[in-house]
Amino acid sequence: MYVRVHPSDNVAIVADPEGMDAREHIPQSHKITLRDLAAGEAVVRYGHAIGYLNRALPRGSWVREEFLEMPAAPPLDELPLATSPPPDPEPLTGFTFEGYRNPDGSVGTRNLLGIAATVQCVAPTIDYAVERLRREVLPRYPNVDGVVSVTHSYGCGVAIDAPGAAVPIRTLKHIALHANLGADPLLVSLGCEKLQPAKLLGPQLPVLGEDHVIRLQDHRGFADIVSVVMEAAEKRLAVLDRRRRASCPAADLVVGLQCGGSDAFSGVTCNPAVGFAADLLVRAGATVMFSEVTEVRDAIHLLTPRCANEEVARALVREMRWYDEYLARGEADRSANTTPGNKRGGLANIVEKALGSVAKAGGSAIRAVASHGEKVTAKGLVFAATPASDFICGTQQLASMNLHVFTTGEGSPYGLAMVPVVKVSSRTALAEKWPDLIDLDAGRIATGGATIEETGWNLFRFLLETASGRRTWAERWGLANALSPFNPGPVT
Ligand code: CA
Repeated sequence: MYVRVHPSDNVAIVADPEGMDAREHIPQSHKITLRDLAAGEAVVRYGHAIGYLNRALPRGSWVREEFLEMPAAPPLDELPLATSPPPDPEPLTGFTFEGYRNPDGSVGTRNLLGIAATVQCVAPTIDYAVERLRREVLPRYPNVDGVVSVTHSYGCGVAIDAPGAAVPIRTLKHIALHANLGADPLLVSLGCEKLQPAKLLGPQLPVLGEDHVIRLQDHRGFADIVSVVMEAAEKRLAVLDRRRRASCPAADLVVGLQCGGSDAFSGVTCNPAVGFAADLLVRAGATVMFSEVTEVRDAIHLLTPRCANEEVARALVREMRWYDEYLARGEADRSANTTPGNKRGGLANIVEKALGSVAKAGGSAIRAVASHGEKVTAKGLVFAATPASDFICGTQQLASMNLHVFTTGEGSPYGLAMVPVVKVSSRTALAEKWPDLIDLDAGRIATGGATIEETGWNLFRFLLETASGRRTWAERWGLANALSPFNPGPVT
């Protein structure tokens, strides 16, 4: 049994190796030729060439990765710009979730106390205080969902005024002011670091007030430092504990999409189902972000026509060009993206991976483009530029999102402390192997047991429930990957 996506495809994905009319054993999720193919001929999947054969292959053959030569990336200077933006979709009304409305207008899906670091130097001290707060203080504030260490590897030993430094600084600023922290963090500074509180928060610092900032070098001894942090934290906990969830329109959701550990099924099961849910969210007025520059680069010619206007399309091209140049400085290109796991899962190269990856973005018009770490304010479908690395993409999307969707084929226990991460599997086998890590199985789409539409609606409803407080598997286990801000600037 196999899955063919587009009528012009000359290969298909093996869904079940049993009973196949194949010339050799082809593992699940790998490609089989549907007719005799000549050397030099294009291998077509999703209706697009994913590579050119360096040898002839008869019908029923396994298309191994090394048989394919990768096409060049689409040139950036001759792309169609906003030539066919999809029409405004029919609004979807009446869908709500129970969220925490913040004074700045943002809406939280969780009610967390965040203790944010300006610099890595203070991270273990924050961790120490957070551990005690969870044990000794949090039980007295039952309406608060948790206390989170908002710590990271940045803040000093860097060229803080170099152009690249703007990326991690704005990422960390927006994370510190995150909707799920009540947009009101407690900030811990060392005192001598390059990323001073005023540099991190800018004009936002006076709004928060100096009582939100603790400088460790102002205090005498570790015991004093810890008690100062804990006292300030308890004051914040008392305020957060008085908050209650209230009904909010689905339009208040800011959903970050990404994939990790993708396989050849990702592009036919979980990613199209996520794309269907993304279109529903857009119709409901929400913000949906897709990201991962190296995974859209090879499909960019399919995306620039979908931009709402030429300005958005040019911003999309700008982000592709910036990343091409960033990779070139490191003597790499987008082909460095694919992992051994992707290849084991049947993805031959980044072209095939990208064509499957952009299915997450659904079919809506692209309304806006955000550069690395910028806060997304537009509604509708937005491209928020990030690296594809799971933990860096997730960190950067945290600048804006209050809910995260993560699709996976090979499987990852990925989670974040500050937002719920809903994990969707590409294969039923993965959902069965990891029933206590995968939140939703999209694999039945490949076997005919479910449709993209049904699975997309299920995910949409699941997201509203999760935003309202239903805990994901990653939250139940307390799985939280470290914040990893993208720093394209120099380290000193
Ligand atoms: Ca990723």
